[in-house]
Amino acid sequence: MEKLRIAVQKSGRLSEDSLKLLKECGIGVPNGNNQLKINAENFDAEILFLRDDDIPEYVQDGVADIGFVGENVAIEKNKVTEIIERLGYGKCRLSIALPKSKKRKKIKDLDGIKIATSYPFILSKWLKQNKIKAEIHEISGSVEIAPRIGLADAICDLVSSGSTLFSNELYEFETILKSEAVLISGKNLSKKRKELLDKLLFRIRSVRKAKYNKYVLLNAPNESIDKICAYLPGINSPTIVPLAQKGWSSIHSVIGENDFWNVIEKLKTAGAQGILILPIEKIIE
Ligand code: ATP
Ligand code: ZN
Repeated sequence: MEKLRIAVQKSGRLSEDSLKLLKECGIGVPNGNNQLKINAENFDAEILFLRDDDIPEYVQDGVADIGFVGENVAIEKNKVTEIIERLGYGKCRLSIALPKSKKRKKIKDLDGIKIATSYPFILSKWLKQNKIKAEIHEISGSVEIAPRIGLADAICDLVSSGSTLFSNELYEFETILKSEAVLISGKNLSKKRKELLDKLLFRIRSVRKAKYNKYVLLNAPNESIDKICAYLPGINSPTIVPLAQKGWSSIHSVIGENDFWNVIEKLKTAGAQGILILPIEKIIE
């Protein structure tokens, strides 16, 4: 029987979150230490554990059908694959960083310098777009030490907190790509595999939507209901249930994480009491 072949980073920054997301989608991955391939539980899928750099090529070549990979890697490898979903974890940025001792102000000041990077494709495209003539020196690891050992004048590397740059006396000069984990897919999936992928995508979207929303329960005097409901979008509209205490109701709704604190404050001033906020596991629409 055909299974959906899912490539996941074997061990690294994306491994844990990718397996966690699969688990939240009801797809269990048994602990098979050091196995290249393992059958998933509860879903017609096979998990392939690979180095992240190899995932785009395996997906292009049809060895895997889909892969969880950093957008930075998906773009850099420039293979025939498609980004089908952004996943919201593994957030980082690809930035040009310079030694603190060499302050440069404008992008144009990069003209003529030598930049060490593991991302020559993305960097050269950016340099071309910005009409900068700089030399690219490709290295595969420990890019951040290149300026100190005299290998390059600057680096172009992934940054999240900036602590690696800081401890190497570099500063972030310009971000050239913002990245997060994405799901990539090959172009020629069989009908059965396409169906499995659609099923998985539906689950991923339900899980992700739930993460960005909270379930809210609150009590309010009936005369405040209209005012309170005006602040609560809900999925369709809030649920209102009368309380045993006369003249009072309980209101249930869903609010997004982005305007969460704003809404809560407004609810309180509108007369809401005993506000409970609960996490949502899945939202099926
Ligand atoms: P592999 O052994 O699979 O080749 P790796 O060392 O190349 O692993 P990791 O360091 O595990 O890769 O990073 C995997 C991905 O995690 C990156 O491509 C990027 O998308 C994401 N990421 C998030 N934050 C950071 C960060 N601060 N530094 C590097 N990568 C990050
Ligand atoms: Zn890698």
